[in-house]
Amino acid sequence: MLRAHTVSRRSIEFREEDVPHLTPGHALVRVHHVALCGTDLHIWDDDYPSELPLVQGHEFVGRIEAIDFGTGDGTAGPEIGTAVAVSPMVYCNECGPCKAGRFNVCESISCLGCYEDGALAEVVRVPVDKLHVLPESMPPRLATLGEPGSIAMQAVNRGTPEAGETALVLGCGPIGLLAILFLSERGVKVIASDLSASRLELARAFGAVATLQAGSGPFPSQEQQQQIDALCPLSGPTLVIEATGVPASFENAVRLAAPTARIVQVGISTHTAALSMRDVPFKELDIRGSRNSLNLIPAALEVLNRHQDLAYQLITHGFELEQLDEAFRTMLDPAQDVGKIVIDMPAGNPA
Ligand SMILES: [Zn+2]
Ligand SMILES: [Zn+2]
Repeated sequence: MLRAHTVSRRSIEFREEDVPHLTPGHALVRVHHVALCGTDLHIWDDDYPSELPLVQGHEFVGRIEAIDFGTGDGTAGPEIGTAVAVSPMVYCNECGPCKAGRFNVCESISCLGCYEDGALAEVVRVPVDKLHVLPESMPPRLATLGEPGSIAMQAVNRGTPEAGETALVLGCGPIGLLAILFLSERGVKVIASDLSASRLELARAFGAVATLQAGSGPFPSQEQQQQIDALCPLSGPTLVIEATGVPASFENAVRLAAPTARIVQVGISTHTAALSMRDVPFKELDIRGSRNSLNLIPAALEVLNRHQDLAYQLITHGFELEQLDEAFRTMLDPAQDVGKIVIDMPAGNPA
């Protein structure tokens, strides 16, 4: 079977290798589709804490080819041939956060495709408890959005949204757009902001009631501030989700949030933002981080399956495995306006 190894910065090597052995408590999954995200781009660029060489791919869907439930209690489960999304996160179950039920921030967390070999291979071996059967009638290609969906849903959950309140989502990439959908489903009025007019158009389709285009001038402009005021009776949004990872955007979140608001930081960056030591105490802001998810792939799939037409709009590009290098280069090109790129593996139907 073919596996794609990222061997060094921006360099992929395809190797013909043996199919992994089935071991107790594991399944062999024939991979059908793998979606790529910003993390993948950083790994490919060797700008990530993981060590190369590495087989990338952590957002993936496939079919069970063989399964061994092992000797534990879990002797029942999905059958051979079942379409599954796979949770790529690996936790220790022993550290403080794991014992407190916060395994998404496990101290020795790992992730298939980020820190150990992942799904850009025709077949992968995964623990049976990482398999999530797709909702009936959900196209496997669309279900690659379950993993990024889980990240967005974790950010939304961390914000403890309440129906009727107004939230501001900063950044309308896939995570921001999915967060807008999940917030709207819970009755939250969402204002969305981004630099790109086309992404803001998508934000409206995903449920945003107002959009603010950020640009070179002051943000928000006077007119945009009036738009915010009209939707926020409490001197600003009471929930802000920062999904860009740009320091200035986090600073905007702190500045624009209403008194007593919750700010969820889900965008990641190696840069440092300036934190107002006045706004945080004066407004008694809750600043909350969001990382990975607490097993939210099934919940995300359930929502995405109900909004298939919308979710499809996130997938803007498809490539075959052998075109992986071209796929990464496409992500680098701002003119391509990339949403999600899906790699259609030899076993996957590209339609
Ligand atoms: Zn990802
Ligand atoms: Zn742990």
